[in-house]
Amino acid sequence: MKPLTEQEIRAAFVNCTKGEAKRLSVPRDLADRPWDDLDYLGWRDPQAPDRAYLVMELDGRPRALQLRSTHSGSGQARRSMCTMCLTTHSGGVSLMVAPKAGRAGQQGNSVGAYICSDLACSLYVRGKRDAGAGARLHETITLEEKIERTVANLAAFLAKVTA
Ligand SMILES: [Zn+2]
Repeated sequence: MKPLTEQEIRAAFVNCTKGEAKRLSVPRDLADRPWDDLDYLGWRDPQAPDRAYLVMELDGRPRALQLRSTHSGSGQARRSMCTMCLTTHSGGVSLMVAPKAGRAGQQGNSVGAYICSDLACSLYVRGKRDAGAGARLHETITLEEKIERTVANLAAFLAKVTA
C-alpha cells in the first residue's frame, strides 16, 4: 500500500469520534514500515494493549478502524485461524471487536472478527513472518490471489463496520 502520514491515518478513522482519532496512539516509526508488503497497517496501543488499530486503502482512500482485542485466555493451545489471511496460529489469533460507525456504534453495536494478534496478516501471507509449522494451508493459488483474498476479507469486515 501507499505510505501514509500520521495526519492521513488520524483523518481515516470511520468508527470513533474526531476527538478520539486525534488522541489515539499512532506508530512513530511510520517511515520505517514495510509499506510495499502491507495490505493494511495494524498496530496496538503500547499504553493500552487491548486497543488495536488498522488502516487500509479502499477505493483509493485510507480507511481506519479502532478495535478492542480480547485475549481469549493466554497460553491456550487451541489452534485458531485468522479470518483475514487464513493463517493458523496456536494462541496467536485474537477476537478483535470494532464498534460500528455512527449511531449504531454509540448504541453499543459492534462487529467482531478473529484476526492475527500481531496484526501482521500481510507478512504471513507473503511468507515474511513465520507462524510455525502447519500455519499455512497448502494451497495451489498464487500469492497475488492470496493477497486479493486477504484484501477482500478486510474490505468485507470494514463494510460490516460501516453498514
Ligand atoms: Zn491474519
